[in-house]
Amino acid sequence: MSKKETSCSFCGRPRSQVRILIAGISGHICDNCIIQAESIVKEELNDRNKDSQISAPLTLMKPQEIKSKLDEYVIGQSAAKRTLSVAVYNHYKRLNYKVGKDDIDIDKSNVVLVGRTGTGKTLLAKTIARMLNVPFCIADATVLTEAGYVGEDVESILSRLLQAADYNAKAAEQGIVFIDEIDKIARKSDNPSITRDVSGEGVQQALLKLLEGAEVNVPPQGGRKHPEQKMISINTKNILFICGGAFDGIEKLIASRVNRQTIGFSNSEQERVDGESLLEFVNPTDLKTFGLIPELIGRFPVLSYLQPLDKKSLRRILTEPKNALVKQYTKLFEIDGVDLKFDGEVLDYIVEKAIEFKLGARGLRSICEAILTEAMFDIPSKADTNEFRVTLDYAKAQFDNSKLAKLKAA
Ligand code: ADP
Repeated sequence: MSKKETSCSFCGRPRSQVRILIAGISGHICDNCIIQAESIVKEELNDRNKDSQISAPLTLMKPQEIKSKLDEYVIGQSAAKRTLSVAVYNHYKRLNYKVGKDDIDIDKSNVVLVGRTGTGKTLLAKTIARMLNVPFCIADATVLTEAGYVGEDVESILSRLLQAADYNAKAAEQGIVFIDEIDKIARKSDNPSITRDVSGEGVQQALLKLLEGAEVNVPPQGGRKHPEQKMISINTKNILFICGGAFDGIEKLIASRVNRQTIGFSNSEQERVDGESLLEFVNPTDLKTFGLIPELIGRFPVLSYLQPLDKKSLRRILTEPKNALVKQYTKLFEIDGVDLKFDGEVLDYIVEKAIEFKLGARGLRSICEAILTEAMFDIPSKADTNEFRVTLDYAKAQFDNSKLAKLKAA
């Protein structure tokens, strides 16, 4: 009889049935058991991390610090930046300093940002979340429906936040949710008796539940596809909600409220600008006239606006922010050892096209792509190129040849 075969001291499998068997002082462990042990260790450490995160207070930045951080990423929009900085500061101050002896419970400062698409609303919210290192998610109000209808339940917003928080419920409870296109769930008619308005008022009512600071049961995987999943309870009391919307036509509502004439203001450029500057006077009454229900408006005590971006701002957006497009492309070329240079007039051209195509800041990237795609395709294979200069002629030729330009011409 041969000596008994060495086996794993954890699972008992003999050497012949495992791939690797590692010897310890008084026993052995096989590769299977190592892999299993690793996942147990990971899970366990993760849980402990979560527990320790709960007590770690957020670094509280002062409003001025928040604003100057925002300045690094977002061009212009100083009114919105100032308002947001204060709202965020107060929100997290309230969170760090729990209700004191005097029992003064500070209300949450949920925010509504009014401004055209592509003016930086999402960017502001995202930048704040990154700065504070809290979980962040973006939800689109247009896909939300009341429970029981086709579409996403409002709870799906929290599923997303939970995912952004790596399923750490405590972290999610201090996160920031950005709800885009909040204006699209406005009540379509001032007459509440009209046939039920599934996509409008009903969703606003459903959203109220999240905003009221309730314990909400959230399906961690989101959606209704996994009915068997275990719900996770999330308290929304300390989640900061920032909503954005273009509120098309709200200037007229503001104008009629402040008793200013805007009749015919769409005709001339000067008057149009005048109409836009009216945004500055936006107040909760205008949101109500627009079709948001008073209960919802009441949950958004902070209201600010973003200006449409003019040529000068678009030009700055190309080069100034920390991750400005020009900096990004320069980096991409630099990785291939190529020094990328744009002639100044190319940048003006990109801005003009963005305005001409009514794409705003959102269009700057697609225009840059159109101009640079060919160079990005060819240059990596050219060993002898160490500089690439984009001239106006080159940019125009590339752009005119692009899908974007053809789309417009069609
Ligand atoms: P909104 O939410 O207002 O529709 P976004 O914040 O999503 O617009 O902006 C779209 C893109 O345009 C952003 O990714 C950003 O690169 C750019 N952008 C818009 N506004 C600004 C701004 N004020 N400063 C810098 N970049 C901006």
